[in-house]
Amino acid sequence: SHVWLNGAVLPAEAAKISVFDRGFLFGDGIYEVMVRLQGRFFYGEAHWERLERNLEKIGIAYSVSLLRQNVSDLAQVAGLLDQDVLLYIQVSRGTAPRQHAFPKDITPTAFMYLLPFSLPDVNTKRMEVSVLPDQRWERCDIKMTSLLGNVMAKDSAVTGGAHEAVLVRNGKITEGSHSNVFFVKDGELFTHPKNRFILDGITRDITLELAGSLGIPVREEAVAQIDISQMDEAFLTGTSTQIAAIGRMGTHTFFEGSEIGPITQRLQQAFLALKNQ
Ligand code: PMP
Repeated sequence: SHVWLNGAVLPAEAAKISVFDRGFLFGDGIYEVMVRLQGRFFYGEAHWERLERNLEKIGIAYSVSLLRQNVSDLAQVAGLLDQDVLLYIQVSRGTAPRQHAFPKDITPTAFMYLLPFSLPDVNTKRMEVSVLPDQRWERCDIKMTSLLGNVMAKDSAVTGGAHEAVLVRNGKITEGSHSNVFFVKDGELFTHPKNRFILDGITRDITLELAGSLGIPVREEAVAQIDISQMDEAFLTGTSTQIAAIGRMGTHTFFEGSEIGPITQRLQQAFLALKNQ
């Protein structure tokens, strides 16, 4: 398989990065993930813009247009022009002698690869999620490659037999280890507000838009951990998760058996219609 690294398409085995790359030493980099379905990137513009915003947030000067222009080259060499794919992109601050402060005149390391990938029409899974303390820092809005807080939470969830970890900070549910979290209560949709405690998920935005067009009232307010059992429905959102019902959160079960809540189902159908549009 092939990857794109700093302007060249190479076999993955031939792509080399210095051990002094700050992405490797410090996790000093930004990443992005999007999917191309039936020949077009789903909400590609939103993903490219988020990448650009995140690079700006941490002061990496890199033009994402170079990446954008090279995706089809990569797809061609990788033989993936006609398939649905997942695109992973990462830009680190670059390579320099190890020191914490940002080195002057450093050239960012930019890398991307494509994977054959398919999404089900609707994610019909009932996700089981663990509820764990959110041990991450206070800039969870930055889509950075240092994901230790996220991977430790996810690993703990998986070790405990769950699919995903849902995180709690100051008694409130923030988000999942790699997804956003929504609840339904008395016909209203609840999700954590966009601030430094969550990633501004593109699928979260899409879901809020769909709710608006379906006339489902939305409250961007965090739900307290102690109120989980009072909620009628809960679901996760994410680029590869799409909209996935939560069957169990911690000790609470939403609907017995295989049922998926009515509002979750309406949003899933609206999301499917959007993909097929
Ligand atoms: N929160 C976190 C922490 C994530 O890693 C992700 C997925 N990258 C999301 C939310 C969902 O974001 P998106 O819908 O843009 O994939």
